[in-house]
This record gives sequence, C-alpha cells and structure tokens, in this order.
Amino acid sequence: MKADYQVPNASYRSASEFPTAPWTDLLRTAIKDLAELLDFVELSYSELDEVSIVDPTFPLLVPRGFAARMRKRDPHDPLLRQVLPLARERDAVSGFVSDPLAEFERSQSGVIRKYAGRALLVTTAACPIHCRYCFRRHFPYADQSASRASWADAIAALERARDVSEVILSGGDPLTLANGRLKTLIDKLERLDHLRTLRIHTRFPIVLPERIDAELLSSLASSRLRTVVVVHCNHAQEIDATVERGLAALHANGVVLLNQSVLLRGVNDDAAALRALSERLLDARVLPYYLHALDPVAGSAHFDVPEREALALVEEIRSTLPGYLVPRLVRELPGGISKTMLT
Ligand code: SF4
Repeated sequence: MKADYQVPNASYRSASEFPTAPWTDLLRTAIKDLAELLDFVELSYSELDEVSIVDPTFPLLVPRGFAARMRKRDPHDPLLRQVLPLARERDAVSGFVSDPLAEFERSQSGVIRKYAGRALLVTTAACPIHCRYCFRRHFPYADQSASRASWADAIAALERARDVSEVILSGGDPLTLANGRLKTLIDKLERLDHLRTLRIHTRFPIVLPERIDAELLSSLASSRLRTVVVVHCNHAQEIDATVERGLAALHANGVVLLNQSVLLRGVNDDAAALRALSERLLDARVLPYYLHALDPVAGSAHFDVPEREALALVEEIRSTLPGYLVPRLVRELPGGISKTMLT
C-alpha cells in the first residue's frame, strides 16, 4: 500500500514538536452539538438517511481533529457513523441490554476481576469521544470509579490480589486523567511488587493525539512496569499524520502498541476496510490485536454484524495478509474466564 503521508523521524522521542494546543483545551472545545457537527461536515439533517436525535444520557462528543478526518458531505462516512446519535438507538431490541458483560455486579471499588492474573481498574467516566456502540455507555461510573478516595480502595484491593501481575487501566478513558493524577496512580501501582505490566486501554492516541505530551511520555518511559497501550481504532481513515506522530512517540519511548477494534455495520464491515486498517496500523507501528464482535448493549443493535458474516470477513482478509496483521475475532461473554476466540 502506498503511503500518502510523511513517515515520522524514527528518532522522534518527544511530542513537544506537534501539539497545536494543550489537549485539555482541545477536549474542552470538542463538538457537543449535533447541528454544529453536521455543519462541520457540510451536511443538513435532510441529507442524513436516518433520523438523528439529541440524547442527554449519552450526549454527542467529538474532538474537532477527529471530525476533520471525516469526509465532507458524506452521510455514510465511517467516522461520522461511529458518533452520530440515531433515533434507532431508542428501539428495544431483544438481547440488547444495559450491561451486556454483567460488569455492574463484578465491579468493586472500581476494580473488575474478569480473567486470571489480570485486574481492570475503572479509572474515570470521562472519554474524549462518545462512541455510539460503547458497551459501557450505561455503566454507573459515579458509583464505581476507582478514583474515589484517591485510589485507596482500589490499591488496597490490588495489594491483596497477589495473583495479579497485570493491571489494566480502563474507563471511560484513563488518559482523561491529568498527568499529575495519572503519575500518582502509576507510582502507587509500581509499589505493588507483584505487578509487572501496566496496560492502558485508550482511544486518545487515535481521536485526540495531542494528549501524548512530553509529561505523559516521561511518566510511561520512566516506569518500572512494562507498558502496553491498547488503542482503539476502527477504520484506516482515523489515522492521519498527527495520530502517527503520537504513536511514533509512544513507540520510541518503549511502549508496546496494540489495537483493538469493533466490527461495526456501516463502518468497517468489509474486507477491504479491514485490510486497509491493518496495513495502516502497521504503518503507525501498531499491531492489530482484537476485532471484537459487538457487545449487545442497548442502543447499538444497528451496528451488529452476524457472526457468520464476521467469520467470513476474517477468513477473507487472512487469505491476503500475513498472520500478524490478522486480528483475532473475539466475543466477550458475561462471566467468561477469557474472551471467546471465534477465529
Ligand atoms: S472512548 Fe471507549 S469507553 Fe469511551 S465511549 Fe468510546 S468506546 Fe466507550
């Protein structure tokens, strides 16, 4: 695949060259109004093929940099489809529920133990973008965030969990925490000698890459913990030169980069799109890790791709890509002891 962008300098170690504004300002000025988003992409309500809505329970939130990667005047743009609230979300669909992975009950002090050896910390409710298919869109963050009591309960729970060697920061998006708070948390985790790996699940490097600033890079690079950042990118169009520079900075600072995506109707449900995504991720030093079957969360049924079709898609890309560029198709089941590998 021919690259139509500048490959960043491999010796690039600091993000200080590229942020155009502090990430906090970019987050604060993200688009929150549907009319403004449509105006930004030069569409009118009448040009949408479906009825859009304003949803106060899960409001629109789109960083301007992400919106700038959407094609103008295209109601089917794959980035727009991920954030566009549609009236169909209000349809009750059998099997689509508020807590599809039964996490509400298993979360204690913001710590969720799903799989052996690993623990997940729900660090914050906040995200840099609101993805309409999000499986935690109904999660009771106010009750469950680990940041209550300055992480004390969560750290105490992890201290007792001697079998845990990897802690996963999740959310919301853990990189919405200010650098100081994040460093405090990482310092506390480093003091737990049974922990070896820090994993961060984040959509920031894709949707608001200016978040990868010098202070964040320094915290990650200086940690004794092995650091893995799992980004969330669903379509090759999401990766532009700014995203690539941020990912290169993480990579240059010793961070292992993986991607997880969700198979979404109308976004990436064809072999060409999935192939292009894997190739583009490799350009940006990220290996495809998981392709998730949609979690059946209420409001997301219109994104669903039947399992048989998903399997056929993965087989199709396997025939033209090296194995390391073929993500594992997985489904999470409530109460499962590991993800269910579908391929
Ligand atoms: S960034 Fe992640 S947690 Fe936040 S809405 Fe999107 S998918 Fe959900």
